[in-house]
Amino acid sequence: MPRLSGDVVAIRKSAARQFAVLIHAGAARVVPSSLWLLESLLPSRCACCDAPGPTACPACVAALAFLRPPFCALCGAPTAWPVGRCRECSGRRLAFASARAAVRYTGSAPRFVHAWKERGLRPFADRAGELVVERLACPPADVITYIPPDGDRSLKRGYQPAQGLARALGRSWRLEVAPLVARARPVERQTALGRRERRRNMRGAFTARGTPPPHVLLIDDVYTTGATVAAAAAALRAAGARQVDVVTFARAVR
Ligand SMILES: [Zn+2]
Ligand SMILES: [Zn+2]
Repeated sequence: MPRLSGDVVAIRKSAARQFAVLIHAGAARVVPSSLWLLESLLPSRCACCDAPGPTACPACVAALAFLRPPFCALCGAPTAWPVGRCRECSGRRLAFASARAAVRYTGSAPRFVHAWKERGLRPFADRAGELVVERLACPPADVITYIPPDGDRSLKRGYQPAQGLARALGRSWRLEVAPLVARARPVERQTALGRRERRRNMRGAFTARGTPPPHVLLIDDVYTTGATVAAAAAALRAAGARQVDVVTFARAVR
């Protein structure tokens, strides 16, 4: 499939920035929301396949593999029949009560998530939020929080996908969004690590900010092995949360 070249993306981005600077002439910095507004006014293309139209075109959205029950009650892996624990999560100490995702991390989902992470377009977070709300019921929760980005990577991108999704879900599910999780230390990139190494890498990676309410809904963009959300849920539980449920946009299925 043809894809938007980096140059074209850069030109569109720089055009949006110049417009924003014109409008905010005299202002010290470009306001991110106006940048988003101007980007949305430029002719839009699908970030997955480059077709003119919405940020994620109907064909690419239709190509997403939606997860359907039955699921493992705990980790949300699709199973042949409903189970309390599955092969993937049995024997693991997981600090969350449940994890659910809208789509399988295959097909057009990795391209969708990649464009969302690298380009930080708000329409992606909103579209991902809509797809989650269409398919998942809101777990019982007093507040929504999200996995904070790794310092360096978020600085490079200037955007936090999990926070964007949390905000979109907060609006739909009428829940307050609060930054309750912080990074306790930098971690190694997870992509090159196996399952066991991921868990070791993430252990103690997070701390809670303040005292969380009893029921917390934790949001991330992708559930891969569950090591990241389990570590964050453990930090929230240690700080006083009684129950942590997890919702992600996509989930890797083995
Ligand atoms: Zn497309
Ligand atoms: Zn399971």
